[in-house]
Amino acid sequence: MKSFDYLRVSRASAAVGAVAARPQGSFVAGGTELLNLMKDEALAPDLVVDVNGLPLSEIALRDGRLSIGATARMGDVADHPVVRERFPVLAEALLASASPQIRNRASIGGNLMQRTRCWYYRDPGSPCNRRDPGSGCPALDGQNRWHAVLGGSGHCIAVHPSDLAVALRALDATVHILGPRGRRSLSLDDLYRLPGATPHRETALRHGELITGVELPITPLARSSRYLKLRDRASFEFAVVSVAAALTMRGRTVTGVRLAFGGIAPRPWHSPAAEEALRGRALTDRAVREAGRALVRGAEPREHNAFKIELVQRALADILDDLGGRR
Ligand code: SF4
Repeated sequence: MKSFDYLRVSRASAAVGAVAARPQGSFVAGGTELLNLMKDEALAPDLVVDVNGLPLSEIALRDGRLSIGATARMGDVADHPVVRERFPVLAEALLASASPQIRNRASIGGNLMQRTRCWYYRDPGSPCNRRDPGSGCPALDGQNRWHAVLGGSGHCIAVHPSDLAVALRALDATVHILGPRGRRSLSLDDLYRLPGATPHRETALRHGELITGVELPITPLARSSRYLKLRDRASFEFAVVSVAAALTMRGRTVTGVRLAFGGIAPRPWHSPAAEEALRGRALTDRAVREAGRALVRGAEPREHNAFKIELVQRALADILDDLGGRR
């Protein structure tokens, strides 16, 4: 690991100012992600600004919305009674993430900013367009079992690893940000960029911008939600595919639906076509099949990951059967 300066601050504006002033500066909260990347030398910040002293750990209901501060710990959010009762998909996604030890340490903001688990990205000896722009993407024709089948490009097919982000996408969350130019808010779709020709630009955040929290609308849909994560081992592992779903029904008819998918794309994947195939229709085998087909339309599998196309459709069918009371 390369040497770096360390600064602990008590005001968000001071944290933003310090990082903005150093091109290689970085924020740290739990440190469960940044320190690993620094040890692997995938990242080498010359200044690390510790944001744990900022008043950003609150989990509170406010004006019909749930507000979660960026330094709230994953474990605390997962265990919060309001989250468990009104946003089960969020609690389940967090509990399916990492180990209890990591969840007790890792922050909500840090989880959203975690980097891809593409092994080429984490190996400084490999070329990687995301880490070293223009150097190439060995995953395209290499070991791509874990990689994207939707939303990738000829420059990068890495998937986003966050379960939390998938749940937040399904819940239409807003991400609040403080930067050198002031405050702003982004949807998950606007926060995460697709790789295109510039995979090193992973998010819409400008240098020095800090995630201060996320906000979720309280809706009947959110209350009727679930997270299904399929992975290689149950104890702790990143998703091969995952589905966050929220569903409301009147009789057999779908009155509301929100879906988001993990493990298949470079950002939490939203498929308006899959939702459209379900909304206002009876939840039949045919409707579920059509939603699955709409989801994977245009998918571009690689040598080792074509199985994800079938797997994610089965995962979708499973979670819809569960939420729709069809078991
Ligand atoms: Fe790098 Fe993306 Fe290719 Fe992985 S898939 S090697 S992160 S460019």
